[in-house]
Amino acid sequence: MKSLLIPLFIIFTLVQTVQSQTDPKIYDIIDAVSEERLKQDVKILADFGTRHTLSDTISNTRGIGAARRWIKSQFDKISKDCNDCLEVFYQSNLVKEGTNQRIVKDVNVVNVVAIQRGTKYPNRYIIMSGDIDSRVSDPNDFTSDAPGANDNATGMAGAMEAARVLSKYKFESSIVYLGLSGEEQGLFGGQGFAKYAKDNNWQIIGVLNNDMIGNIKGVDGVIDNRTFRIFSEPITTDETDAEKLARQARARRFYGGEIDGISRQLARYVYKTTKTYMPEMNPMMVYRLDRFGRGGHHRPFNDLGFAGIRIMEAHENYTQQHQDIRTENGINYGDTFEHVNFPYCKKLTAVNAITMASLASAPPSPEEVSIGGIVEPSAKLQWSKVDGARGYKIYWRDTTSPTWDNSRYVGDVNEFTLTGIVLDNSLFGVASVNEDGHESVVVFPNKIMR
Ligand SMILES: [Zn+2]
Repeated sequence: MKSLLIPLFIIFTLVQTVQSQTDPKIYDIIDAVSEERLKQDVKILADFGTRHTLSDTISNTRGIGAARRWIKSQFDKISKDCNDCLEVFYQSNLVKEGTNQRIVKDVNVVNVVAIQRGTKYPNRYIIMSGDIDSRVSDPNDFTSDAPGANDNATGMAGAMEAARVLSKYKFESSIVYLGLSGEEQGLFGGQGFAKYAKDNNWQIIGVLNNDMIGNIKGVDGVIDNRTFRIFSEPITTDETDAEKLARQARARRFYGGEIDGISRQLARYVYKTTKTYMPEMNPMMVYRLDRFGRGGHHRPFNDLGFAGIRIMEAHENYTQQHQDIRTENGINYGDTFEHVNFPYCKKLTAVNAITMASLASAPPSPEEVSIGGIVEPSAKLQWSKVDGARGYKIYWRDTTSPTWDNSRYVGDVNEFTLTGIVLDNSLFGVASVNEDGHESVVVFPNKIMR
């Protein structure tokens, strides 16, 4: 009896690993994120007085120069603690006076970069970004106190804390912890870095732009420490190729895809990973690029055709955003340290860390996915195989559902027919899966089978 039970147990465990998609190390990563360290880092960043992009760069205690040198020193320290596992450097771009109304003098927009190189796919990158810079009421006031504790010291501190936690592990793909500048002046740091990535032929899995991840009390009085928003644009609009855009638009009219672009799939991945490992959280996907008429640093990446989303609090407080520090009618205005909720900041940092750990552990997505099955009571999918995949998973959902609700693991094959599932009534996608059950982002079909 015993001799039979043991092999059965082993088989069961193997099958379960692939199917359950939970990896114990992901729970360790959640636990390792430190609220205390986030608090210390946000305090230090806020205490640089102002981190305005045009502020002082000489002082060691005040201004954006001091802030970025301190951020770099932190990444250097984290790297030292992991046998130099991070490549830390500045990436900068000169922005000339008058480029827009918020650039009132020539400025070197300097980003701080830390790369944890992937062991198997060194040129594939998953990026977590926060912002270094801050502002007050007048966007061009570069001397007044602008602590920017929530906007966006929280995102910056989150990226540093994720580096501390994830640098204890090795991953197949590269992870980038990124501090961007020039956000408030017109997304200049993101533009510069997206171009740098494109010029260096980076394969970007996705950009998780964190901008304000520490406020739980909305201006409307709602208090909520579990919900957060994931903003994603519907489809990529690479405006450099008008003919390609028109061709894609025609195809979408007949085959769908208008809500299934690469950034949207990345948003669904964050949603799924959170639901799997942090079920106490309420991820809220918002089907738009960003808040109404407002911007963030994922956009310059989207503009160059990269997948990128914005992760942020669900409830904003406008009296604490882009405000001169003052008291008016009994209201304390200003983005100061005491308004930040660190248990919440920790949770959102953990959401980023587990998403990056999962993606950096997973094989690449299949490059080509074709679909067919017109006038048959079945859906047929075919895909290009991926080096490093243990098998593939087909996902489908109702056309009105935001999430991939149904799935089937189909093993190490490159085509599969779902019998009884009518092509017309669902949307489909394919992900690759490795030994530990880590999955790639889902790929929406990009070819039609004839
Ligand atoms: Zn802002």
